[in-house]
Amino acid sequence: MATVPPNFSERKQEQLKPYLHDSIVVPDELQANVLITTLDKVYNWSRKSSMWPLLFGLACCAIEMIATAASRYDLARFGMEVMRPSPRQSDLMIVSGTVTKKMVPAIVRIYNQMAEPRYVLAMGACATGGGPFKEGYNVVSGIDKYIPVDVYVPGCPPTPEALIYGLLKVHEKVERQSILTVPWYRKDQSEFVPVPRLGPDIFDPRQVELIRETTMKKPVVASVAAADGGDAAHAAAPKEVSNAAKSRMEEAKQRAAAKRGA
Ligand code: SF4
Repeated sequence: MATVPPNFSERKQEQLKPYLHDSIVVPDELQANVLITTLDKVYNWSRKSSMWPLLFGLACCAIEMIATAASRYDLARFGMEVMRPSPRQSDLMIVSGTVTKKMVPAIVRIYNQMAEPRYVLAMGACATGGGPFKEGYNVVSGIDKYIPVDVYVPGCPPTPEALIYGLLKVHEKVERQSILTVPWYRKDQSEFVPVPRLGPDIFDPRQVELIRETTMKKPVVASVAAADGGDAAHAAAPKEVSNAAKSRMEEAKQRAAAKRGA
């Protein structure tokens, strides 16, 4: 015999069961007017229903982002129609377009200026992994090398529908968070990302020690030769740092220390 699906009030009773307690007595006349939920649910519902994206675009993907915000797709239904020109008032950074080395410092600086809670969506092949310009001389292989990304939307360019799907995934992530464990109410949990330096090639300041160790101290060629059973003494010796370079480095260190102390 086919089972009869539960009606609305039975389903409601079933959903309420985990929250009901003997000490909570709801009079019959109020049964239809009382809503019981969790603080997390209300907190996350309000955050996801008023998420303001940051107003900026980098390349062709930005055109699709603009189309998504226009009347046909209507971001207003998610409370997202207000694209904020200030990172201080934005919750969501949509990195839409090719990320060049020149733009990375600016993007990281803007990310640091966004207040928590903040989310990042990498839109398109370029922002997620370099896209058609991957390993080009001026393009980075994805913005996630520098700032944490919450959702990736593939495509070149992704359609507005794909972007909307990505935005719904951001909403899902918001809904899974708990007010008890979110990092923005805890001390020293919010990450400040050092702004990368644009030099002959871009580098991450957090990797400075590693870069210095690799390029100046370790005799890489010699250790490879020794590992191969060769004669390390005959392998190319690491380049000596000249006294002039050492003194320049020392001066730079002192200037940086003085600046920090000022
Ligand atoms: S992913 Fe394609 S459409 Fe988007 S910025 Fe890169 S090249 Fe342009």
